[in-house]
Amino acid sequence: MTNKRGNKDKQKNNSDHLKFFIETIAKFCDKCGSPYSVDNLQIIKENDFSSIIHFSCNNCKSRHIATFVKPLGVSSRMPVNSDLTVDEISKFSREKEVLVDDILSIYSLLSKDPIIKI
Ligand SMILES: [Zn+2]
Repeated sequence: MTNKRGNKDKQKNNSDHLKFFIETIAKFCDKCGSPYSVDNLQIIKENDFSSIIHFSCNNCKSRHIATFVKPLGVSSRMPVNSDLTVDEISKFSREKEVLVDDILSIYSLLSKDPIIKI
């Protein structure tokens, strides 16, 4: 019972948190002007200094990533021009560095493709 209530409170706090980002960063989609709801937002990364939030539009499916710098109260937003899902972005943002082996394997993979010139 206590647990259940705890979870509910957590969800409520989280949605208040997301509402704050809608109010301060973007109320509407940059591309089509549809209003954002808390369901369209996902926090990718957050610490005491800044938050990185993923916005996706229900209507036109365009996606933006916003950074919000807490001490300054400023934010910036840019369109996501990749086919990575928000979970993949979140996953890769936790990686500290790109491994040299990974770069080499991508390089050799791309160099086998006759269309891509590197
Ligand atoms: Zn839109």
